[in-house]
Amino acid sequence: MNFELNPEIKAIQKEARRFAVKEILPRLEADQFKRDLVSKMGELGFFGCAFPFRYGGSDLGFLAHSVVCEEISRADSGLRSLFNLQAATVAYTIMEWGTPEVRKKYVKDLVLARKLGCTCFSEPNAGSDLASMETQIEDRGDHFLLNGSKTWISNGTVAEVAVVYATYNRDLKHKGICAVVVETDQPGWSTRETPKLGDKSSPIAEIHLNGVTAPKKNLLGEWGEGFKVAMTALDRGRISVSSGAVGLAQACIDASVEYANKRVQFGKPIAQYQLVKGAIAEMVSFTEAARLMVRRGAWMNDQDMPFSREIAMAKYFAGEAVVKAAGLAMEIHGGMGYSLELPVEKYYRDSKLYQIGEGTANIMRLLIADDALGIKKANRPRLHVPGEFRHPE
Ligand SMILES: Cc1cc2nc3c(=O)[nH]c(=O)nc-3n(C[C@H](O)[C@H](O)[C@H](O)COP(=O)(O)OP(=O)(O)OC[C@H]3O[C@@H](n4cnc5c(N)ncnc54)[C@H](O)[C@@H]3O)c2cc1C
Repeated sequence: MNFELNPEIKAIQKEARRFAVKEILPRLEADQFKRDLVSKMGELGFFGCAFPFRYGGSDLGFLAHSVVCEEISRADSGLRSLFNLQAATVAYTIMEWGTPEVRKKYVKDLVLARKLGCTCFSEPNAGSDLASMETQIEDRGDHFLLNGSKTWISNGTVAEVAVVYATYNRDLKHKGICAVVVETDQPGWSTRETPKLGDKSSPIAEIHLNGVTAPKKNLLGEWGEGFKVAMTALDRGRISVSSGAVGLAQACIDASVEYANKRVQFGKPIAQYQLVKGAIAEMVSFTEAARLMVRRGAWMNDQDMPFSREIAMAKYFAGEAVVKAAGLAMEIHGGMGYSLELPVEKYYRDSKLYQIGEGTANIMRLLIADDALGIKKANRPRLHVPGEFRHPE
């Protein structure tokens, strides 16, 4: 087993770290959406690691995607969500499941961040239970018509391109779901920003679709196959999310190590007290274990192996690790952890998302336990997606 990153991945990791330190950290205080940073990340190829060259990518794979995601999240977890929206659950999903025409129209612009994307799964009455979604899609002969509401949509207020999941017949549950690419600049598409605890640089919206239309060619996969599309998108999205958790946990370690070495109490830096050392050891070990699990999942994806089980475990464990690390970082910082002067309070607020988004900790545990108990295998043969995108068109 070789755990060493290859030179190309190390180079983009270094570039992402440089960008994070030079461009993200100095502007951390203005904790809001920054379009210019997103454009720069697109231009630097951060979203394109897993994409072929002709779609603006570098063909390095999801392991590279994971490593870059980690570095960006280490600086600002809110910017990490872009790796889902400009890559995994929007652009990559369109590339895998879209017609050649649709791929050509949207993928490169998303990867280079010339356009912004969003993914619309969640609804007021359908969160973990996606198969019960209520948003309707109708085939109107020459176009699709969509009506319904979505909640908690990252990039929802700013996205120009959306992958929307909707049902044509609720009685069919997951077999009634379709996935379609929708352009948001049209009458009937309205958004309202959702105020939230953390990840402030990632705008979240409630979206109302009132007679929204999409051309027939924008269907992803077959009619009624949207649940399959969703499952592949979520597996890839979990690589981004769990990498983000590792990056944020690393930020908690960085801050805690610096503070513990500097802060003197009872005549010594607090780093010299065993209970503080114990907290640091826990943070480091949990974060390192999460990193190995996440990278294994990303690597398995790159080898074309089924990886749903491994990435569910990685997502679950990384979510627990980051919440633990953020709590310990607060503890090590004492009163300063509670202060708005240091980013530790932000880490604490941002960390909680990692137990919620892209499948909650409970949903991950169900998937892992059902697999272990022989109730339902998590890793089925890799879904056969239309693979022409791998070859020149
Ligand atoms: C910051 C943020 C960004 C997000 N971005 C997006 C996005 O871009 N696109 C999108 O579509 N969605 C997005 N989401 C929504 C997210 O995916 C959902 O919040 C998540 O799937 C959980 O759904 P829910 O909130 O409806 O919770 P619920 O499903 O109502 O769950 C509530 C609680 O019940 C538990 N629970 C539910 N079912 C079971 C069960 N069978 N067994 C045990 N426990 C169970 C859950 O684990 C959870 O603890 C985002 C959420 C957040 C917070």
